Amino acid sequence: MKIGIVGLGLIGGSLAIAFRENDLEVLGVSRQSATCETALTKGIVTEASTDMSLLRDADVVFLCTPIKAILPTAQAIISHLKPTAILTDVASVKGEIVQAIAPLWPNFIGGHPMAGTAEQGIDAALPGLFINAPYVLTPTPETSPDAVKILKDLITLLQSRFYCCAPEIHDQAVAWISHLPVYVSASLIAACGSEINSEVLQMAKALASSGFRDTSRVGGGNPELGLMMAQGNRQALLKSLTDYRQQLDQAIEFIETENWEAIAQFLAATQQQRPDFL
Ligand code: NAP
Repeated sequence: MKIGIVGLGLIGGSLAIAFRENDLEVLGVSRQSATCETALTKGIVTEASTDMSLLRDADVVFLCTPIKAILPTAQAIISHLKPTAILTDVASVKGEIVQAIAPLWPNFIGGHPMAGTAEQGIDAALPGLFINAPYVLTPTPETSPDAVKILKDLITLLQSRFYCCAPEIHDQAVAWISHLPVYVSASLIAACGSEINSEVLQMAKALASSGFRDTSRVGGGNPELGLMMAQGNRQALLKSLTDYRQQLDQAIEFIETENWEAIAQFLAATQQQRPDFL
């Protein structure tokens, strides 16, 4: 089987490494010729080019460009694909992408490997990145079950944990566990930073330790990623933020009214629920 990968960065490069390790032929297409040369020199791909026609023999093609480039790349690539080729992408939001690409290519299936690091580009590509990580496919009712099966087998080769759901279910789920936490954490940092008593603020900064490190980590990361989440998953993120605000309002009310029993029940319930997510 010949695998095509478009966008040889962290995710595309890491997929290429994993498929090469399994002796599959990997055809890599990237925007810059320097990236293609690096991929060839490192042995990450079998062949590489900036020219999409390299993908004419590919059986399965993974679109691994930044989210904004996924649709234009799909539009540019389809005239180069053989009719039986399966097309998939790795973007971390699915609804709009699946809606836009599925009508262009019947054998398109949205996908999202839930693995990554803070680094970018071909030099950030890692062996073993997808081992034990969840990998979600988001077929529609029209998607061919045979195409899903072929991609599922490739995901099994990556040693990822395979999941399958509708695109909108994926987007709401990642809003809860990935996108909402960024905005909760960023708001926490902003709220602490808005303290107007300079002595308190200085002492808070001095005393901040492991708890603050854990709760502020995702809010203090790459701003571009948080912006992409809000732009690409707006509705689902807004729903999660609104529900989260209701929880905060309720906690405020319990504390204002000194309803300690309700607070105790609330915290006991969240203590029980947390392991279900991890
Ligand atoms: P990345 O390291 O920046 O790699 C993307 C590659 O695409 C770049 O190396 C670049 O190759 C090429 N590229 C950049 N802009 C392009 C454009 N406008 N048109 C065509 N190609 C372009 O990014 P990544 O972290 O691998 O993310 C790629 C995709 O994976 C995104 O859709 C993201 O949502 C998804 N994803 C990321 C993570 C994560 O944690 N990073 C996790 C899961 C899914 P050249 O060097 O040739 O320019």
